[in-house]
Amino acid sequence: MRNIKKDVLVEVKDLRKVFRLGKENVVAIDKMDFEIHKGEICCILGTSGSGKSTLLNMMAGLEKPTKGYVKILGQEVTKMNEKKLAIFRQKHVGFVFQSYNLMNALTALENVSLPLVFRGVSKAKRNKEAKSLLKAVGLETHLKHKPTQMSGGQQQRVGIARSFVGSPEIIFADEPTGNLDSKTSVEVLELMEKLVRDKDQALVIVTHDKNVTMIADKIIYVLDGRIEKVELIKREEKGQIEDVQKEA
Ligand code: ADP
Ligand code: MG
Repeated sequence: MRNIKKDVLVEVKDLRKVFRLGKENVVAIDKMDFEIHKGEICCILGTSGSGKSTLLNMMAGLEKPTKGYVKILGQEVTKMNEKKLAIFRQKHVGFVFQSYNLMNALTALENVSLPLVFRGVSKAKRNKEAKSLLKAVGLETHLKHKPTQMSGGQQQRVGIARSFVGSPEIIFADEPTGNLDSKTSVEVLELMEKLVRDKDQALVIVTHDKNVTMIADKIIYVLDGRIEKVELIKREEKGQIEDVQKEA
């Protein structure tokens, strides 16, 4: 039996990361403690250099902490070796990147199906799920388009569809609206919110952009590698947005 606290998806405990630069020590993350729950949209907000990417990299197991740990679904990702981590990520974690990170040689459909190739899913099943996700992000007419034949907003919608493929419990996004104009950013955020809510998944967005917090249930403000404050957004305040979306 895995030891999982009820509904806690991610547990960050006494996390610290020090980079050594020549003789200098750079404390990128220090004394970080927080949890992310099932169904929660969490925004980690901070200026450039505050430690956001370092934190996200440790949550994704890409970087080892100097001290403390990150558990996802009760498993310590900060301890896993590369092979175990790769399998764990394929099963449980989706990623959205600022620069989309799509494969230019592949179509939208192929890009979205790709994570399922690694999971050994049959082609028919891959195509079915990828099509349904591309439809959910409003790109059912762009299945055969390649990244260079799409706008930034469309490429990011493909990136979002890809991150949800295989229904991972948690999706990590690093500055997902960083390359988009403000109108497209709002569309992309509302889309991510809808997908997360539909399946009760969890979303962690790391950003310097305050506008991104419009979809957040929880905002973690970071400053110089530490948590400055945590703000919980009440359901009622967000009620209007949710009601509008349900009617649409
Ligand atoms: P953010 O994503 O919020 O802009 P980062 O996590 O990239 O912040 O960086 C936090 C701090 O850690 C910065 O001072 C940065 O210079 C430092 N840092 C990040 N990565 C490294 C590294 N590989 N080596 C040395 N210092 C690093
Ligand atoms: Mg960063």
